[in-house]
Amino acid sequence: MSETPLLVMEDISHSYGGAPVLSDVSLVIPRATTLALLGETGSGKSTLARIALGLETPAGGSVQFDGDPITGTRIRRSVRRRMSMVFQDARASLDPRWTVRQSIAEPLDVFRLLSRAVDPTDRVAELMHMVGLPPELGSRKPHQLTGGQAQRAAIARALASDPVLLACDEPTSALDVSLQAHVLNLLRTLQERLGLTMLFISHDVAVVRHMADLVAVLHRGRVVEYGAADAVFARPRHPYTRQALPLKPDAQAQRVLHGVGSQDGCAFRAACPFAFARCAQEVPALHFADGVAVACHAVEDGTI
Ligand code: SF4
Repeated sequence: MSETPLLVMEDISHSYGGAPVLSDVSLVIPRATTLALLGETGSGKSTLARIALGLETPAGGSVQFDGDPITGTRIRRSVRRRMSMVFQDARASLDPRWTVRQSIAEPLDVFRLLSRAVDPTDRVAELMHMVGLPPELGSRKPHQLTGGQAQRAAIARALASDPVLLACDEPTSALDVSLQAHVLNLLRTLQERLGLTMLFISHDVAVVRHMADLVAVLHRGRVVEYGAADAVFARPRHPYTRQALPLKPDAQAQRVLHGVGSQDGCAFRAACPFAFARCAQEVPALHFADGVAVACHAVEDGTI
């Protein structure tokens, strides 16, 4: 197996209407691992995932998928089929006019994955079985499914093209708590069984903890902490991560940890108990210590 990381993002910057949403983001996802992007709403997670999959072109920076640059080029069909995405709103991601079977079968047709030797009915049945959907649900339309069934159908559709990279954007946050664990466990099982590389997006600390090998904490479009999930959760270093991690998801969503939007210094300084003069003058860069990268002047100085 090649040692080249499956996905490499370098110095990604992006803005909407002149407002920066991502600044100098560099991340690497090794093969068959799950990198979680953890951050509040508006931290840039979804935009970064869309850029990673070539669905959006960044204002600056580059993305390499399996050693090939995909930024600013027309992505070949053979490359496109190897990346899939699962969205938060599963029903909206499925065509309301199509049955489950039709939705799952469509990528097989689009990417011309069927040969005379492969019966599409068999392949769709195999995919439904893989995600735990009973065959009788194949004739239903999205509005006739529960939220959990719709998300399983969306996952089966995402897997139809036999991808190596699966991006999951808050895939359980629209589900009842009782269903979330089932879908998360399904995704973990599929990741291991199929050797998938996953880019997993969530604002929910417990979900990220359950899923991730690596975690990148985003604050205001910048990575403020990045490393092995075990190491980050065991000892969060960045003041933002330290404030964000112990919170329950609901409390986290309500708590204001934004700080300021200035480009001149650390964007977290208004909410940071450790801020000092340098924090207003200089954007902190990521520095590695003990295998974890942290963007904080106080951590770099060793004062926290
Ligand atoms: S750089 Fe300064 S303001 Fe930002 S998190 Fe570190 S100590 Fe706090």
